[in-house]
Amino acid sequence: MAARRPLIAGNWKMNGLRADGTALAAALVQRLKKADTARFDMLICPPATLIAPVGQVLEGSILALGGQDCHAAEKGAHTGDISAAMLADLGCRYVIVGHSERRQDHGESDATVRAKAAAAHKAGLIAIVCVGETEGQRDAGEAESVVTGQLKGSIPDGATAENTVIAYEPVWAIGTGRTPTNADIAAMHANIRTSLSGLVASADGVRILYGGSVKPGNAAEILAIDDVDGALVGGASLKDEDFWGIAASCR
Ligand code: PEP
Repeated sequence: MAARRPLIAGNWKMNGLRADGTALAAALVQRLKKADTARFDMLICPPATLIAPVGQVLEGSILALGGQDCHAAEKGAHTGDISAAMLADLGCRYVIVGHSERRQDHGESDATVRAKAAAAHKAGLIAIVCVGETEGQRDAGEAESVVTGQLKGSIPDGATAENTVIAYEPVWAIGTGRTPTNADIAAMHANIRTSLSGLVASADGVRILYGGSVKPGNAAEILAIDDVDGALVGGASLKDEDFWGIAASCR
């Protein structure tokens, strides 16, 4: 199996003003300075308003910066939107696309997510493509087919292990404190790995993150599951000790 370096990614969502955001980033920079970070990469994705000030705090640090979304177009009449090139211009290396909150709240289809991921690649960003089933779909036994369909529809041509990360986030596990069983996570990540061949060059090298109620208390067992190559963390990424506790669980 290809060696994949775990990625611990924080999605701050719509949280934080300048003082909290820069303080949180500074605390993580300090922790990274003192730590053995050979075991994982760490990323934070603040809200758009904080990318510039947080980026200043991260200067010279290995802590990576990312956006939570980008528009599919390079520029133009898209009031309120942000292009991938704008994110790259502020020092972002990653962007999350197709988070279930975007799919639900903004009606984003797989085709939209695919176009956003392509725009991210064009701007030199690594796209974190999110997929995941609803509770109803899991109960109906459709989880794997739903996720496979999302992957097929959302991954653009030209995707590689270097420019694409997949985040498996069951919608019903996000922000709920509930998680799938370890066996269900393992089965889904294996299914994703299989589905990736044919969609991504060197599929074996693609990092597949698990996301949904990851906390310091459950991170070690989740991160130890085969084909789990890191975590996308929402709520627990807003406290530096919790986010750090998750990263420290990487073996
Ligand atoms: C997320 O929104 O990507 C997420 C995983 O949230 P939480 O960790 O809060 O469940």
